Amino acid sequence: MTTHPPAYSHLLAELRRLDRLSSSLGILFWDEQTNMPPKSAQLRGEQTAALSELVHRESTRPEIGELLAKLKEADLDEDAAAVVREARKAYNRATCLPGEYVARAAAARSAGFHAWVEARKDNDFAQFAPHLEAQIDLAREGAHYQGATDVYDHLIDSFDPGMTSAIIDPLFAELEEGIRPILGTILGSERGVDPSLFKGFPEDKQEVFLREVVTAFGFDFGRGRIDRAIHPFCGGHPEDTRMTTRYDSDNPLDSITSAMHETGHALYEQGLNREFAGTALGSSVGMAVHESQSRLWENQVGRSRAFWRHWEPRYRELFPEQLAPLSSADLHLAINRVAITPIRVDADEVTYNLHILLRYQMERDLFSGKLTVKDVPAAWNARSAEILRFTPQTDREGCLQDVHWSEGLFGYFPSYTLGNLLAAQLWYRLQEDLPDVEAQIGRAEFTPLLEWLRNHVHSLGRRYYTQTFAQKVTGSPLTPQPLLRYLRERYLPLYSN
Ligand code: ZN
Repeated sequence: MTTHPPAYSHLLAELRRLDRLSSSLGILFWDEQTNMPPKSAQLRGEQTAALSELVHRESTRPEIGELLAKLKEADLDEDAAAVVREARKAYNRATCLPGEYVARAAAARSAGFHAWVEARKDNDFAQFAPHLEAQIDLAREGAHYQGATDVYDHLIDSFDPGMTSAIIDPLFAELEEGIRPILGTILGSERGVDPSLFKGFPEDKQEVFLREVVTAFGFDFGRGRIDRAIHPFCGGHPEDTRMTTRYDSDNPLDSITSAMHETGHALYEQGLNREFAGTALGSSVGMAVHESQSRLWENQVGRSRAFWRHWEPRYRELFPEQLAPLSSADLHLAINRVAITPIRVDADEVTYNLHILLRYQMERDLFSGKLTVKDVPAAWNARSAEILRFTPQTDREGCLQDVHWSEGLFGYFPSYTLGNLLAAQLWYRLQEDLPDVEAQIGRAEFTPLLEWLRNHVHSLGRRYYTQTFAQKVTGSPLTPQPLLRYLRERYLPLYSN
């Protein structure tokens, strides 16, 4: 066993303490979305602000800087070197930001979010424009303090370490070209099921089904929960993972697929090395790898014929009358429904990536100066017509639909599609080790799949950044071809007339 310098164990203790402090914010947020009484919002806002300030102060303490300085020349093994590298990156990023800037950015995020809610309601981009302008300026200012050479790349890196637009540009171009003919075949097909046939699915029975699936996937309810919220999400901590879902009696498939998606995130969290939570050894790589886990369980597993071979009888047992008019083939088509929708969060897995390409191009041009805020609605609509072959009728179903920009989250959108690329790469890679995985899924045996992900993905923590991670685990950096192959294999047989 390697002996580490004393400064290393002190650093680990500091990081553990910071992890405990900052993850409390996640539990507060979860509570706000699920249980908090309506009149407590003001208090919760103040609690969150006070705790955020404390977390920032504690994570920028000079003592941590001193430990990092002591470890600069230390001879460390690969794991310890990764811990120090990530701790230094986080410390530098946090200490570069003046306290005045942090407070101003937090206030602007809150104002931006409320302005966006109002602007979207009123379908009036002009109300939101000055806030978007302010968010872009703040993002530039923050990147400048942190010594970024390219602002947009710096923002992307904060969600997916090591990722840049120079890497993303050709990936997305190749993906778009490959999706086009697949989508053409699907949209030209006469096959499909009317979604309005799914009506009157009682929520309590939906919940029974969903909990059975989530349990079978391997979610540990001993250190995690699933509750109801308006927006499905997964948060909390590897020791205490909080998922949410929603139910709609006339849209039952949404709650299943959302829950499978969030379970994928949760299984990743629960599979991280808990002893080292808050360090490179016990953290996720970034958003793309996180999203690869949610998409793999939702799409490659949850929308497959194999999965439904086992679960369809149980689903029919719970909803005999509701499902009576639908054949097995109908149910499968409905689960794999593809349509051009104005709203990203309603999109299927074929068209979803086109929504992301549109947002990525918009962000890239906003930060390069090619596009100004006042031209956002027109540019959005023109790009939508080109990429999605759909022109939004209102800004509400166009450039005002997503919350991200109102809170200064730029560079986040690409992660969704990068996660889809990685999910498909992992899917084909894991079948080399688990040739029977589809048969196992057909018997609701998910342990071999989860074990493979535990060993090859979850246990790696953030030792490697996205591209190196993809290379090490799948044998290739991110590439669009496996996703295109998967989409062809999944959708062309379903939609060939
Ligand atoms: Zn997700």
